[in-house]
Amino acid sequence: MKRISHWIDGRIVEGTSGNTAPVYDPATGEQAAEVDLASVAEVDRAIAVAEAAAPEWRATSLSKRAEILFRMRELVDANRKEIAAFLTAEHGKVPSDALGEVARGLENIEFACGIPHLLKGGYSEQAANGVDVYSIRQPLGVVAGITPFNFPAMVPMWMFANALACGNTFILKPSEKDPSASLFIAELLASAGLPSGCFNVVQGDKVAVDRLLEHPTVKAVSFVGSTPIAKYVYETGTANGKRVQALGGAKNHMLVLADADLDMAADAAISAAYGSSGERCMAISVVLAADSIADDLVAKLAERIPGVVVGPGSDSASEMGPLITAEHRDKVEGYIAGAGAEGATVVVDGRRSDGSAGYFVDPTLIDNVTPGMKCYDDEIFGPVLSVVRVKGYEDGVAMINANPFANGTAIYTRDGGAARQFQFDIEVGMVGVNVPIPVPVSYYSFGGWKASLFGDTHMYGPEGINFYTRGKVVTSRWPDPATSSINLGFPETR
Ligand code: NAD
Repeated sequence: MKRISHWIDGRIVEGTSGNTAPVYDPATGEQAAEVDLASVAEVDRAIAVAEAAAPEWRATSLSKRAEILFRMRELVDANRKEIAAFLTAEHGKVPSDALGEVARGLENIEFACGIPHLLKGGYSEQAANGVDVYSIRQPLGVVAGITPFNFPAMVPMWMFANALACGNTFILKPSEKDPSASLFIAELLASAGLPSGCFNVVQGDKVAVDRLLEHPTVKAVSFVGSTPIAKYVYETGTANGKRVQALGGAKNHMLVLADADLDMAADAAISAAYGSSGERCMAISVVLAADSIADDLVAKLAERIPGVVVGPGSDSASEMGPLITAEHRDKVEGYIAGAGAEGATVVVDGRRSDGSAGYFVDPTLIDNVTPGMKCYDDEIFGPVLSVVRVKGYEDGVAMINANPFANGTAIYTRDGGAARQFQFDIEVGMVGVNVPIPVPVSYYSFGGWKASLFGDTHMYGPEGINFYTRGKVVTSRWPDPATSSINLGFPETR
């Protein structure tokens, strides 16, 4: 059985805790590997290594750091298929989805290559007579990233690229469900010339997470995962004096106004709801359909569903793969089973009754959903699209703004004024105008509002640079010593 271990101080380190977790091939349901789960002592070892590597890395010039990141950019680019293969094997992603994940992750490494420019401070000459003032941003030291199963390559890249570029050393705690990509990335970073100890991977569960949250050497924690754990990580990490950004779950609505092109809206909803089997924090899980076009839109959605090719990622024809685990499949099926009893209409039921292998649920469409039903209130994180009928713009916006989650949303309309008003009115962190999955490009920052984000900073982009550095302001003067005198008044600038 393949064994997946830690990466500490520039090499694979086999776990000694005696605790392991199974890793499955979701397309077959067969166990593919065993991953080591770190003990407190193993996490401490990784932290000590990262702490030891920090002074030299911090002192490494910006040009040298950028050079390593440029090399990493080339290595990830050259190994897109290899990285994608890990995502297919352990997550079940189909090739187009897995390659898309790598491509969007790579953008974050490309952004971080600009670190000499990104870390420029401000300079004010003659802020007072003979006095100059300037600002610099310095790294925090050892920082950690805790990542979810659904983006085993991209979400770590959201974090480590900027963290390392800023001069921090990094500890990654990947999801125990699909941990292999993290080790391959560690090897690529080593090949790119990153010194040993600057990037470490501890495989693990709550034991490892808790240790990272309590250890005083870890100065900041970036987390992406479900809302209850994000809240826990934020509260525990900040109580221990750390800087924390914790991104949580989602329930993303797509508002389709009566003037929208319904074929385009239906294509977009199908793509955004069923891509990656709905296991995306930016997936569309609710379509809010204006009453006058709702029947037509539901018909267009239903007629497209049989065309979605569901199958293993090993088959290049597959457009949608399995869910991550048997437990998750059962949970998703539970929502479908419950929806009818709650008064919704299951238009297309994706539950399989043929006993086929793997954790597959086919695309599912539920109409006449209303707030208060479990399939509306909960994040399902599966290929289940709900349709809620709304009177129009006002009704739709009120429903989105009343939802506790606020990660992403989209409006479909041909009316520029309505779209502009939507962007103004909507209380959600990432907004799409005729774009169903508005994941910001790497030179903006990613993050939701409300229960989708705990902390003050969004992830990656400019906010990522701020998160992984702290500011310092220097006030300096070089007066003639002959002019020196004592003055106990508060220093003035005029
Ligand atoms: P999860 O919260 O179960 O796990 C995330 C990480 O937390 C993993 O590394 C896991 O090992 C760890 N963890 C799990 N339980 C823990 C506990 N009790 N104590 C400490 N650590 C714990 O999330 P997941 O199932 O891996 O990922 C899916 C979730 O992530 C969905 O809710 C999805 O919306 C969310 N997500 C959000 C974003 C975003 O940017 N907002 C992006 C991707 C995924």
